[in-house]
Amino acid sequence: MLELRPNCECCDADLPPASVAARICTFEHTFCADCADLRFEGACPDCGGGLAPRPIRPESQLHRFPASLRRVVRAHRPPSPRREPERPTGWL
Ligand SMILES: [Zn+2]
Ligand SMILES: [Zn+2]
Repeated sequence: MLELRPNCECCDADLPPASVAARICTFEHTFCADCADLRFEGACPDCGGGLAPRPIRPESQLHRFPASLRRVVRAHRPPSPRREPERPTGWL
């Protein structure tokens, strides 16, 4: 059963069970859509696997199978810097 972690493991944004912004990899490393798409470009920074939208657990099941309350946060690499077009040396 999915753990349904309550937050993004990178920026600590809240990701409640009904959030459509939650992304997970096969190990349930959990990220918000912003981090997944902009920072990690769809690949989990912890295991390298793909990040997919987390399925929504129906409210009726949450009573019997509650979401995890254990927040996990780790330091992840910052967004990749925008690459400046390189100028050949010698130009002014
Ligand atoms: Zn995030
Ligand atoms: Zn992962």
